[in-house]
Amino acid sequence: MAGDNALLARLRSALGEDAVLVDPDVTDSYRRDMMPLAPHGSPLAVVLPGDTEQVQEVVRACAAAGVPIVPRGAGSGLSGAANAVDGCVVLVTTRMKEIIEVDPDNRLAVVQPGVVNLDLRDAVEKHGLFYPPDPSSYDWCTIGGNLSTNAGGLCCVKYGVTTDSVLGMDVVLADGSLLRTGRRTVKGVIGSEGTLGVITQATLALRPLPQAPGTLVAAFGSTGAAGAAVSRVVREGIVPSLMEIMDASSIEAVEEYLKTELGAGKGCAALLICQSDSGGEAARRELSAIEQVCTDVGAELVHTTFDLAEGAMLLKARRAVLMALEVYGAWLTDDVCVPRTRIAELITGCERISQEVGLRIAVVGHAGDGNMHPTIVYDPGSESEFERAHQAFDDILAVGLRLGGTVTGEHGVGKIKRDWLAREIGPVALGVHRSIKSALDPNNLFNPGSMFAMA
Ligand SMILES: Cc1cc2nc3c(=O)[nH]c(=O)nc-3n(C[C@H](O)[C@H](O)[C@H](O)COP(=O)(O)OP(=O)(O)OC[C@H]3O[C@@H](n4cnc5c(N)ncnc54)[C@H](O)[C@@H]3O)c2cc1C
Repeated sequence: MAGDNALLARLRSALGEDAVLVDPDVTDSYRRDMMPLAPHGSPLAVVLPGDTEQVQEVVRACAAAGVPIVPRGAGSGLSGAANAVDGCVVLVTTRMKEIIEVDPDNRLAVVQPGVVNLDLRDAVEKHGLFYPPDPSSYDWCTIGGNLSTNAGGLCCVKYGVTTDSVLGMDVVLADGSLLRTGRRTVKGVIGSEGTLGVITQATLALRPLPQAPGTLVAAFGSTGAAGAAVSRVVREGIVPSLMEIMDASSIEAVEEYLKTELGAGKGCAALLICQSDSGGEAARRELSAIEQVCTDVGAELVHTTFDLAEGAMLLKARRAVLMALEVYGAWLTDDVCVPRTRIAELITGCERISQEVGLRIAVVGHAGDGNMHPTIVYDPGSESEFERAHQAFDDILAVGLRLGGTVTGEHGVGKIKRDWLAREIGPVALGVHRSIKSALDPNNLFNPGSMFAMA
């Protein structure tokens, strides 16, 4: 009892009197969710924190007092998951209802957990955007509850469940520390990379065969203009099935290798190659919208074709980059993913690094999702060039992080980016990775030392 009073006093001091409810007539309505059959107890208190720091305060106070916490959004759940247990603190997020940011150019939103699903949908609609997960309770359930239950809804058939719309989360852990996980980029892969077990079978989702693609190529006099085209395509909601970028250095190498002309000699600083596999009129509409965007931002040449052979030939230029670079030496390809609005800055950063280390760096990448592969060319017989290539590899990762990106868009961490993973995710997230590893592989049997060290 004395302990309970001390906890309540600590909670009141951290959150304010009105955010700590103890009157049973009031707390009664927080005892259970919408499932009447599941067991439910009586909470010691219901708390209504307003921000992450207050949630941390609640968690630290309850952890010190040994009192359990039941997180709760709107209580619309149908499984008793948010039901109180006797003597617990119910942590309700409904005061954390701020839509912190809507970023149309990168097509993302940052929200507090108590935002009601429908309020988010309405807010992003004003920007011509759509938040797909739509449980039938969408007019009162919260985003936090949706994330915790991985809620589905009516649109899942086309758009998937909540997990398919989540890029990152801030999570307060049981010791009150704050885990920041995820990213603001479209891609970013931190998998398990053989550190947790051996996969022996997989069940995979398939899609209907796409239509034959139409292809568009656009040449730009500056990387800034090419980057602007990518941003505008994203902002206008056009979704090509392929959108690749080549910088001046890769264009030049491919021209030399394929003995063809892509525009390097005419001052072409970047090429965008796009495809639409929507078929028929839909593909024509998509590519013509991209053509318009490219022209608007000052493309020097835009060409669209629905001829399959010609399309394949245009794509061949992109696919030939690595082979073309081999003419000059060995290559070392990096893998950074940046917000799609920052692609041009990444390319400029690579140009600077190339000058600093005195090595050729060609940037190619999946512009549609901001995932770039700056490729460094060096002489493997030269120790100095090898060292400078490694330096460039690291400098590119640093630029990627500085631009709000991730050190791996698709290749993974492995042993080469161990230190960079630590730098990107920070000590709390690294501790979480280590805890998962020790829980599943206590003897550090699988892939020791890969991704992160256990000590
Ligand atoms: C009429 C009706 C229709 C429904 N239709 C659907 C549907 O179509 N699809 C569907 O998937 N569900 C549906 N549901 C179930 C329910 O709405 C969802 O599970 C919803 O995601 C719960 O959100 P909530 O904010 O109400 O969470 P709550 O019910 O308050 O909590 C649900 C779970 O999330 C946890 N939680 C909540 N917030 C946080 C947080 N910030 N951090 C950590 N954990 C948290 C709780 O502890 C609990 O375990 C329906 C419910 C009703 C009443």
